[in-house]
Amino acid sequence: MDSLPYTVTVTPGVTPGVFVYAVPVAICTQGRGTNGNGTSNAMAHDEGRVVDLQDDTRLNVASLLMEPVGSTRDVELALPEFALDDELVARNVEMQARLTRLQDQILVSAHATGHVQLECVRCLEPYDQPFDQEFTEQFFQTVDVRSGAELAPKASTGAEEDDDEDLRFSIDESHQLDFGESLRQWILLALPMRPTCGDACPGPSITATDENAPASGSFADLARLLDDMDPDTSA
Ligand SMILES: [Zn+2]
Repeated sequence: MDSLPYTVTVTPGVTPGVFVYAVPVAICTQGRGTNGNGTSNAMAHDEGRVVDLQDDTRLNVASLLMEPVGSTRDVELALPEFALDDELVARNVEMQARLTRLQDQILVSAHATGHVQLECVRCLEPYDQPFDQEFTEQFFQTVDVRSGAELAPKASTGAEEDDDEDLRFSIDESHQLDFGESLRQWILLALPMRPTCGDACPGPSITATDENAPASGSFADLARLLDDMDPDTSA
């Protein structure tokens, strides 16, 4: 890419309690670096530049939607913490994405990395499971970007497609595209069904200690008790 990236500072109004990465100052030299009016999301300006999203999963795509089909934006997203469900939290999430404007949607091709603390199924200890996931997702327009008029669903929509409508991702009426739910689902898909902490896993703690441990503890005491009883009962 021949043009310099620029950075948009995002006011962290959406996810309280999560600290914000310092925006790298070195790449703010493009002048229009910060979005000083306090809005809570970044505008995707200017073909060919990289939009940085820090601690926010939402992007205003109005300007991209006003461009011809085939126009693109490159987005880099960084999330120090990202809740996947009630228990799981992904950390140091980084995502690079290319947004391509299509007829009635924006196609997102993304690559996300990070790690999630999981519990090993063998030793039951927590460990950091890295993930590295590539995915594509479609985000459909709901309103016309110039008139604000609601876009009618496809005329050919049948009953079966109605189900898809509920599941598919949309760009909202303020032209906000939110990567969050899609990213959350793809990270969950990237996690192993049977997480294990690696080759150095000590294995289940009970068998590991039982095999080599000297005869002690309640089972050994019981065995000794049975041995003591044996001569008497057999005699
Ligand atoms: Zn383990």
